[in-house]
Amino acid sequence: MASKAAAAAKPSNLIPGATGDWELVIGLEVHAQVASKSKLFSASSTEFGAEPNSHVSLVDAAMPGMLPVINKECVAQAIRTGLGLKSEIHLKSVFDRKNYFYPDLPQGYQISQYKQPIVGEGEVEIDADGETMRVRIERLHLEQDAGKSLHDQHPDYSYVDLNRSGVALMEIVSKPDMRSSKQAQAYVTKLRTILRYLGTCDGDMEKGNLRADVNVSVRKPGGPLGTRCEIKNVNSIRFIGQAIEVEARRQIDIIEDGGKIDQETRLFDAAKGETRSMRSKEEAHDYRYFPDPDLLPLELTQSFVDDLKQHLPELPDEKRARFVKDFGLSVYDANVLVAERERADYFESVLGLIADGKRDGKLAANWVINELLGRLNKEGHDIADSKVTAKQIGGIVDLIASNAISGKIAKDLFEIVWSEGGDPAKIVEDRGMKQVTDTGAIEKAVDEIIAANPDKVEQAKAKPSMIGWFVGQVMKSTGGKANPAAVNDILKAKLGL
Ligand code: ADP
Ligand code: MG
Repeated sequence: MASKAAAAAKPSNLIPGATGDWELVIGLEVHAQVASKSKLFSASSTEFGAEPNSHVSLVDAAMPGMLPVINKECVAQAIRTGLGLKSEIHLKSVFDRKNYFYPDLPQGYQISQYKQPIVGEGEVEIDADGETMRVRIERLHLEQDAGKSLHDQHPDYSYVDLNRSGVALMEIVSKPDMRSSKQAQAYVTKLRTILRYLGTCDGDMEKGNLRADVNVSVRKPGGPLGTRCEIKNVNSIRFIGQAIEVEARRQIDIIEDGGKIDQETRLFDAAKGETRSMRSKEEAHDYRYFPDPDLLPLELTQSFVDDLKQHLPELPDEKRARFVKDFGLSVYDANVLVAERERADYFESVLGLIADGKRDGKLAANWVINELLGRLNKEGHDIADSKVTAKQIGGIVDLIASNAISGKIAKDLFEIVWSEGGDPAKIVEDRGMKQVTDTGAIEKAVDEIIAANPDKVEQAKAKPSMIGWFVGQVMKSTGGKANPAAVNDILKAKLGL
């Protein structure tokens, strides 16, 4: 629930202009390459980075008379994705030809779905601009990717590589529900997370297997939708944010100068930090869509869909709710952990490798997030290639929970485990890192410090916060191994505080 103060405040995502504030409206068309071994309508491999034109069948090269045959696994992947996006699955869908000429499109048309896509309306929950919101999905359809033109191989010629020709893509279209670049970035990030959990797309934007067409318009808050421009093929989360910001500014400046926005397709130039016109907006009728006569309508049985539904993995939102409920994590920490399936799995194996009783979920989360992820991040590694195992982190957590070591010593221990490996309990034993909880030993250290610093003792009587200085001295004299709570108690008693 938003507080009254928050409700009264102006939405923070308005963009100021000379004639008052403007609101951004964003809708995204995300192209996600289906994770599958072979292409949508042929048995050629989808392997990335292969020798050019080494994965091209007669179908992919569009030889006359060749017939496309649908790949069942690609269909299953689209359905899994639809289910993960809480969307309705259409038991009947139709493949259409979208006609256009392009050197890397030998058919002269792309097989896509137009009026009857395989997946209909759904939604994605995102956290952005300090709130949780839903972005509605309009549709998801299956289509073929085109080949690739290579312009840098020869000064006078361009080459065509058809390896990508015919690879399955899912186009996921959102409603124009986003109101800031942050929301659009959060949406793409969340979408990628969901696809990766589902295993339906690798989501690797650097390899181009996830790219977004970004539709941007501006309007006065609450007014009718403005004319949109579509920025094609933006291929990183950061660029999506930048492209939206500069495009909105461009549109606002035009309108405030008395001009109007032409609906068009634009390109984002990251180096110059600007968008520029590519072509005026094509209309659907320009493509002369019609059902592909080589392909029957795609008809699914409910049981095929139900079976896929039953085998869906736990998705990030559900996992987050479970982490909060079962392990007492904060929503923030749970979000960090579920953002990648590998992280969540790692965390769960830290908790799962319990020798006796239950590990403290919060403490374990804290160690995975702040120590391990923090360190991996600094060194540019993924959790998947962490040398420090879940078992080792679990060992450190157990030593802290049983008061065998202090939090400070635990950090030293982590350093040792990180650089040398080994069993945390054994390291603590061998190197004498155990926390001193023996009050006799602590008392002795306290007595020595009190005896050596009569002036400080006088000061502390007048100013109790001086106790911190004494704690520091005791910790120093015990090599950081004294139990801080015990030190505090003993000091208070001896100083009469
Ligand atoms: P097309 O296929 O011609 O690009 P669609 O109807 O599929 O058109 O819509 C494309 C995208 O544009 C959708 O993601 C939609 O949310 C978005 N969109 C539609 N109207 C606007 C608008 N006024 N401002 C921003 N985005 C919009
Ligand atoms: Mg479009």
